[in-house]
Amino acid sequence: MTATTNRVAVVGGGIAGLAAAWELVGRLPALDVTVYEAAPQIGGKLRVAELAGHAVDVGAEALLIRRPEGRRLIESLGLDDDLVAPLTLSAGIRARGSNHAIPRRTLMGIPGDLDALAAAGILSAAGLSRVAAEARLPPLAPLSADVAVGRLVRERMGDELAERVVEPLLGGVYAGDPDRLSLVATAPALYHQLRSGGSSLVAAAARLTDAGGSPPAEVFASLRGGLGTLAPALASRLPDVRTGTTVREIVRTEAGFRLTIGSTAQAQAVDVDAVVIATPAAKAARLLRGVARSAATELDRIDTASVAIVSLAYRDAEPPAGSGLLIGSGQGFTVKAITVTSHKWPGAEPGLTLLRASIGRVGDTSSLQRDDDELVRLAAREVGALLGVSSTPIDHLVTRWGGGLPQYDVGHGDRVARIRTGVEGVPGLAMAGASYEGIGVPACIASGTAAADRVIDFLARGGPAVDG
Ligand SMILES: Cc1cc2nc3c(=O)[nH]c(=O)nc-3n(C[C@H](O)[C@H](O)[C@H](O)COP(=O)(O)OP(=O)(O)OC[C@H]3O[C@@H](n4cnc5c(N)ncnc54)[C@H](O)[C@@H]3O)c2cc1C
Repeated sequence: MTATTNRVAVVGGGIAGLAAAWELVGRLPALDVTVYEAAPQIGGKLRVAELAGHAVDVGAEALLIRRPEGRRLIESLGLDDDLVAPLTLSAGIRARGSNHAIPRRTLMGIPGDLDALAAAGILSAAGLSRVAAEARLPPLAPLSADVAVGRLVRERMGDELAERVVEPLLGGVYAGDPDRLSLVATAPALYHQLRSGGSSLVAAAARLTDAGGSPPAEVFASLRGGLGTLAPALASRLPDVRTGTTVREIVRTEAGFRLTIGSTAQAQAVDVDAVVIATPAAKAARLLRGVARSAATELDRIDTASVAIVSLAYRDAEPPAGSGLLIGSGQGFTVKAITVTSHKWPGAEPGLTLLRASIGRVGDTSSLQRDDDELVRLAAREVGALLGVSSTPIDHLVTRWGGGLPQYDVGHGDRVARIRTGVEGVPGLAMAGASYEGIGVPACIASGTAAADRVIDFLARGGPAVDG
């Protein structure tokens, strides 16, 4: 009896798929692993482009280093010397016609320190009293089910806090609607506090936020040349990465799976023993239809928000200090967040301001219908009004992420459990990516590693690859 080499296909060359492939080849070097990526470049939402002669991230730009997965991956690639710490993380919020510092000890907009909230000047006196009145409400009953973050905050602390603080903060991450976003999925630590009988939201947020405030270097990091450089660095260490190669269909065979790859005119069949699907939900649903129908149906129900990143470069502009600004939907602007890259990260030459404006929220179908030139004009106009940068940009880039941010609506955790159950019925199949247990880069890395573990378990239990 001879053991043949097991073949594994990883579909999707974003960070989740790349992390899965890295784990697979790291643990089983003899495995034949191929990453198939539809786009011409690797990395998905990790992408670097050139703006005014500088490499800038046009997708994800900040790695939450407080979680271990990103640092571990970077160390395993030998890239630790390229890690860079942010120069500042002090962002602002737009409210009442001006910019305010985000109050310290805030968790997804829920204040853990009422004095800090008052000092920030974001809420009116009436809004502040409504928040303070939470302490006099009957204690929160231990939460037994998921709830929308926005609804919970509105009920306990009023609309002003929900709209002026919670919405811009959640909007900055998910481009989402707080009245739909799941507490369990977007703030699991807070949910667990409340589930175990935390008496009020303020008390729970206070327990979960850091009274001293961590130095920026312990919270976020990037890489020299941009966080997006992580993807090609990782891909270059993998044995077989095929860009420009779409996986069109997956079917089960007696021995494993058959993938159809390439264009319809030049379709090719590839037989593998195991598959990791690491694409966004809609694409994953299409691929799963013939393999795990119930999981495909659930995946199709995950909504997404589309966003565009307008990157702008200015000469001799002087935006106010700080890493950027979050702008709630009720503030009369289309831009929902600005990151002043040249303040936040080291490396920009003196006199050059690099920034990025983010446009697009869930359910907003009109903002992104503008063509690129219109988006640039709109972003520059609003950056002028919001940050006082009135000169004309010397360079610009527009990057569109259609359906780029999955929405973790109430019940998302249960939906993911149903997807996982559906997939568990198919030995040798694993899912990874931003649609499941976290949209941040560390969570996507964790999901890729877990998918690799599942495939390795399957192969260790005999898999399909032993022939005689
Ligand atoms: C504008 C923006 C800013 C963000 N900023 C941050 C940030 O600062 N920090 C942070 O932690 N997170 C951030 N995120 C979130 C994070 O970047 C993403 O959630 C994460 O990178 C997604 O990784 P992924 O591998 O799951 O998916 P993706 O990056 O979407 O990769 C999936 C890949 O699958 C490919 N694919 C799809 N279908 C097929 C097919 N049929 N065959 C082959 N390939 C296919 C796609 O082309 C894509 O490359 C941001 C997201 C966006 C959109």
